[in-house]
Amino acid sequence: MTDPRAIALDLVSAEAAAPGARAPESAAPAARTNLFDLDRASLERFFEETLGEKKFRAHQVMKWIHHRYVTDFAQMTDLGKALRAKLEAHAVVHAPQLVFDKASADGTHKWLLGMDPKNAIETVYIPDKGRGTLCVSSQVGCALNCQFCSTATQGFNRNLSTAEIIGQVWIAARHLGNVPHQQRKLTNVVMMGMGEPLANFDNVVRAMSIMRDDLGYGLANKRVTLSTAGMVPMIDRLAEESDVSLAVSLHAPFDELRTELVPLNKKYPLDQLMEACVRYARRKKSSVTFEYTLMKGVNDQPQHARALARLMRQFDNAVQMKDAAKVNLIPFNPFPGTRFERPDETAIRAFQKLLNDAGLIAPVRRTRGDDIDAACGQLKGQVMDRTRRQAEFRKQLQARGVGHEATR
Ligand code: SAH
Repeated sequence: MTDPRAIALDLVSAEAAAPGARAPESAAPAARTNLFDLDRASLERFFEETLGEKKFRAHQVMKWIHHRYVTDFAQMTDLGKALRAKLEAHAVVHAPQLVFDKASADGTHKWLLGMDPKNAIETVYIPDKGRGTLCVSSQVGCALNCQFCSTATQGFNRNLSTAEIIGQVWIAARHLGNVPHQQRKLTNVVMMGMGEPLANFDNVVRAMSIMRDDLGYGLANKRVTLSTAGMVPMIDRLAEESDVSLAVSLHAPFDELRTELVPLNKKYPLDQLMEACVRYARRKKSSVTFEYTLMKGVNDQPQHARALARLMRQFDNAVQMKDAAKVNLIPFNPFPGTRFERPDETAIRAFQKLLNDAGLIAPVRRTRGDDIDAACGQLKGQVMDRTRRQAEFRKQLQARGVGHEATR
């Protein structure tokens, strides 16, 4: 099954196989604006310029959509009949298609959402001691080709629209019975699903603005985190245009190794990346999280821990803030066909201890939801790949005797 078109069909069969899955709705008519695409500023403009209405009407509609999960204008009872008819003519509220969802034994929940007839992505909810974190995707597939990430094996198809990004939050929040400001099931969003969020800058920034808006999901700025593999110029743009927590996928303290794991490092090597992070931390007066996926025998040796500690101390000094650098250690999550392995527990502890001894906070992020393939780097969705990377990966797997089923 190396023909990408065949993968598209999987969406249809997945639907048939999943009990309770709903029939696909028709796509949003092109002429009408999907209100999920608009944050507060653009929705106000839409009301004033397109509908000739007052701004505060936009606020009412936002509450209907994001607080009460109503998408049918007829049910928006505090709007006059004439306005509802006008909305009907010019707008839709069109969410991604729920293909299926799955609950894990540990409370983690995963949704497979169809974005168009050919592409689906995954969204994951992780409840933990008084907080609920949603891991949101920004692209269908990913173009960066990080060697240890399952999404990379899918290749890249396209950016998600603002509607498709905030639609993930909407579907999860509705499922959880989240009531912003009251019944908070959803307390944090991390842009750590499929894709490189800074490669889809405008749509991601607009969606994050809805997440942080009181008329949207009301999340505090610090509770929305964008994770990047290190697109340096876009980190600076993010500092200017948004206000969220920054996480950077580091994974190696040396350029040579990092380039091998995260090919983007060739374009934006460590010194440039760290300088951009310093500018971000200074401007936002906030810490930056550095994610470090531990891979056995690859980046988990004492020399790596020591060099990482040095890099983090340099960062603290440059920002002139204690604990400006926070490290998250993520034990590698395996997926079929990968050449990497998770280090054993003693190696993980030893690595962490070296960092702690150097005065660094470095929690080990325990894997959640791995019984439903919902852990970091295991998200795949189903992608109609235009780069043919997926077909190549499948060919490699077949050559090595890893069956096709194992790649699903
Ligand atoms: N493109 C963005 C966001 C997606 S990845 C980025 O690179 O940050 C979210 C996090 O999961 C990143 O830190 C990524 O490096 C990590 N990750 C990817 N694959 C993994 C795997 N197989 N095991 C553990 N962590 C992984």
